[in-house]
Amino acid sequence: MKKSFFLLFTLLAIVLCFPLVTQASPLVYPTERISGQDRVATALSISQKGWDSAQTVILCEYSDYPDSIASTPFAVSLNAPILLTAGGSIDERVVTELQRLKPKKVILLGGIACLKPSIGNELDNLSLKWERIGGTDRYETSVLLAKHLTSDSLILANGDDFPDALSAATFAGIKQIPIVLTSKSLPHSVIEYYKETGPKHLIVIGGEFVIPSNDLTTNKFAVETRLGGQDRYETNAKVISFMKDAYQSNDFYLASGITFPDAVAGTVLASKDKAPLLLTEKEDIPPSIYSLMRKHMKVEPSSQSTNDNSKEGMTTASGGLNLRETPSSTSKILSTIPKDTTINLIDQQDQWYKTTYQSKTGWISANYVTPTTATVDSSVNGTVHILGGTGIISSKSQNIIEGKASSTYADNLKSFPSLPSEIKTTDLPSKGEDVDTPPVVTPPVDTPPVVTPPVSTTYDPTQEVLVNPFQGIPDNALAGKTIMIDPGHGGPDTGAIGPNHTYEKNNNLAIGLALNSILQQAGAKVILTRDTDISPATDYSENEDLKARVELANKTNPDLFICIHNDSFSNPAVQGTSTYYYDDNPKQAESLKLAKSIQSSVINTLQTNDRGVKEANFYVLHYTTMPSILLEAAFISSPYEEARLQNPTFQNNVASAIFQGIYNYYKSPLS
Ligand SMILES: [Zn+2]
Repeated sequence: MKKSFFLLFTLLAIVLCFPLVTQASPLVYPTERISGQDRVATALSISQKGWDSAQTVILCEYSDYPDSIASTPFAVSLNAPILLTAGGSIDERVVTELQRLKPKKVILLGGIACLKPSIGNELDNLSLKWERIGGTDRYETSVLLAKHLTSDSLILANGDDFPDALSAATFAGIKQIPIVLTSKSLPHSVIEYYKETGPKHLIVIGGEFVIPSNDLTTNKFAVETRLGGQDRYETNAKVISFMKDAYQSNDFYLASGITFPDAVAGTVLASKDKAPLLLTEKEDIPPSIYSLMRKHMKVEPSSQSTNDNSKEGMTTASGGLNLRETPSSTSKILSTIPKDTTINLIDQQDQWYKTTYQSKTGWISANYVTPTTATVDSSVNGTVHILGGTGIISSKSQNIIEGKASSTYADNLKSFPSLPSEIKTTDLPSKGEDVDTPPVVTPPVDTPPVVTPPVSTTYDPTQEVLVNPFQGIPDNALAGKTIMIDPGHGGPDTGAIGPNHTYEKNNNLAIGLALNSILQQAGAKVILTRDTDISPATDYSENEDLKARVELANKTNPDLFICIHNDSFSNPAVQGTSTYYYDDNPKQAESLKLAKSIQSSVINTLQTNDRGVKEANFYVLHYTTMPSILLEAAFISSPYEEARLQNPTFQNNVASAIFQGIYNYYKSPLS
């Protein structure tokens, strides 16, 4: 009530101050500020938010942005937080954080001029292994960092100021594309690097003024894309729009476009979350960024909340409330929801509410739920994570984002095209009769609740029928064959994340394990690259992870290599199955035949949308020496297929279909 009065007052104030504006289109994002007393503490807050532990930590001097600015892709490849310290000795707070993270290695970023040799001695005293990456200047340091990554793409940004490189950092982090810094004329180290690596795709960040074309042409740099705007914010907005397919999160990270150090550590966290990083001014949101945030909103903010149709509730059972598979007190317990947890009520049957808690959908007793009035659900738009304290990004800017204050930019006050007034969800039926079974209450769970609003889908798991993989196939059909199964991702690498926060790595593993048992029953010998939630690499990085899979394959030399993944795309409507092979694999013809056979079997069995057999240079397809394919079973980014991928029946059916594809591959000779 208080809040809507305040909103009314604010709206009134806007109308009074800007009489020509009839209806502004405010932003209404929930925000979270990640900050500390100073930049060192902000980096620590970011580290604490993103990491329980870390094998590697990157340490930078707190005022030395030029060396750290290109480090995001490298840090992401190692899943390493970036910490800042003074250059003469390690900040005590950083020492405490190192003790918490327990890294196996610390990387000092920058030369001995900024991080003094004494820092190395201190790390020795802490018994921490360390190495230094630092060139003679920022350009050479960026080249040294780039050499740690394998990519056929390169991002070139001007390193004389930070915003352009920062704009590209999270995309580069997610896609593992190196960022190399240049000046108005190309530094020698950059020209050499470009010649050596010859990237296929060159993306230039910034306009002609910061990276002139003539110098690029002279040095035979083939620019594929240039992204530059009138100012740093417009460039930032252009970069994010261009790269939108890489982002899988609804959230934004917001960093200062004026003061750099608070952002660098945040880029790694944003990359981990697969969310874009926006730049802003201290006191207001620049129009190009405001407009981007407005377009990202999914519902029109309303000043009134309705009392009917409450779709949220609060749990009241003191010992926790059981989430059950079906609306019955004898059905299987999926999870226990702690008291005072706000949950979404998706459906109701008698005295049972259907809800989703920590990615599990089930039923809870209505006796222990107090329905609450749902306010405007802005959470569907995602959260804006503000990096840095109010001295960097002010409370006023935060209020503008939350819809509590008005921007002073006229462009931000125009009426934007209107949005839907609500996200379409299943209507909640009216309350049923009294209960006859008392609800079962169990002791509370010890993890704090993570409440995520479910994205609804029409998927009905009961419609999925388990197929018999051996239908029409003789016994021991694959006797004498060795098959390697490679469930994609695992351990620190979640793979794609679905709208209901499920992880691709878990689906891949479930399908892989189901396939393992089917293949064994068919008489085959099976080797798995992983059979639990780990990375096969001993020292995890994205590169090491892929290398470990390929090395295991080439060492054990199976007859076939089957890699299992889920697809993902920014548009949640996209669905279907694709199978990939690679043209330059030594067994190209066999790989193609295998891909076709598995694709057609999966489509027949699961009736998914046939996106076809495709050729792609995936690491595991490129470097394995036997026939190899990569299956993208379905789209985890589609709420419908995400729910399907979660269903054990579907997972088993994918495995059965792969098996039948393998059987058909061996049955017919290579033509
Ligand atoms: Zn994947």
